[in-house]
Amino acid sequence: MSDPVAESLSSVLLRALDGSPLTREEIVPLLALPEGEAREALFSAADAVRRQEVGDEIYLRGIIEFSNVCARDCLYCGLRGSNLRLQRYRIAESEIIETARLIRNAGVGTVVLQSGEDPFFATDRICRLIAGIRAETGLTVTLSVGERSPADYRAFREAGAERYLLKHETSSPALYRRLRPGSVLNDRLHCLSALGELGYEVGTGNMVGLPGQTLETLADDLLLMQEMNADMLGIGPFIPHPETPLAQTPAGDLYLTLKVLAVARLLTRTTHIPATTALGTIAPQGRLLALKAGANVVMPDFTPPIYRQHYEIYPGRSKTVNVSDFLRHLQDDIGRIGRTIGHGKGGRKRK
Ligand code: SAH
Ligand code: SF4
Repeated sequence: MSDPVAESLSSVLLRALDGSPLTREEIVPLLALPEGEAREALFSAADAVRRQEVGDEIYLRGIIEFSNVCARDCLYCGLRGSNLRLQRYRIAESEIIETARLIRNAGVGTVVLQSGEDPFFATDRICRLIAGIRAETGLTVTLSVGERSPADYRAFREAGAERYLLKHETSSPALYRRLRPGSVLNDRLHCLSALGELGYEVGTGNMVGLPGQTLETLADDLLLMQEMNADMLGIGPFIPHPETPLAQTPAGDLYLTLKVLAVARLLTRTTHIPATTALGTIAPQGRLLALKAGANVVMPDFTPPIYRQHYEIYPGRSKTVNVSDFLRHLQDDIGRIGRTIGHGKGGRKRK
């Protein structure tokens, strides 16, 4: 006996495999898929598109979380200014460059410099840092330092930064306004278009499991990601931090996050999609499952452990694992699923 719901789902998947656009009404049922054959078919389709479009190589990006000081007060984040319990740090410029050297020596080609929105790191300071890292290591520099003026973005670009990560977080303007007091989604989207115009490879993305978010909101996130034609997409579960107003909100669901990631691969084809640290935090197998459902990037954390323990955006980030052990495990895992570590710059190949 034929099942009309299953038939329409598999026709949606077949069209998605071919690269046909999907509507919001077609995406929502994919995100709603329960455990079972159809959900596995979604993950396999995303895996097939990943292989066809970006290959079997997994690109590594070494992250340095150089300051946990933040002037913003996002309700979801442990670094929010109102969290007075957090011990704040800034890493000295020389130590950041030293850490970048470790990244290069580990054979990783890209450094991601991430921080809270820390006024101490004014434009010229960040420019000096970028130029120093470029001169000393030749690494490709990705910034993830939040919302700045177009003039700042231009200065960073001229100093040698090539990529920028700024997640849109949620496509719902109302939810965005509630979760990020004093800011509006449109400003973030303007930042993203300014970055694109300056010639950055741009990364955006969302969190899955925010309070008040629905499958429709997530479908809109996916359509926004597609419309922005970003080069990278960070998709991770929300994880509650005890010192925030969202302490009692449950964490985002592992499989829902994987479904969002898989649909993102189907819709955006050639983007770089990391298996995020947050996925690895909510489930031991989270990262590996993501690599089998469309992801092709991993971001090992090179922040020196004395600081890393205080970069508590959410709790449970691996505090003790040192980065060489992490890389060894990763290499084993990657080998087991028949993939290899990518070399070279790992920029996006646009069609
Ligand atoms: N300050 C910069 C970069 C640091 S925050 C910025 O906000 O863009 C980096 C990312 O951490 C954010 O984009 C957000 O998606 C994620 N994040 C923050 N709090 C989180 C939480 N509780 N759970 C999961 N991810 C979180
Ligand atoms: Fe600051 Fe970014 Fe955290 Fe918001 S998400 S409080 S901007 S570090």
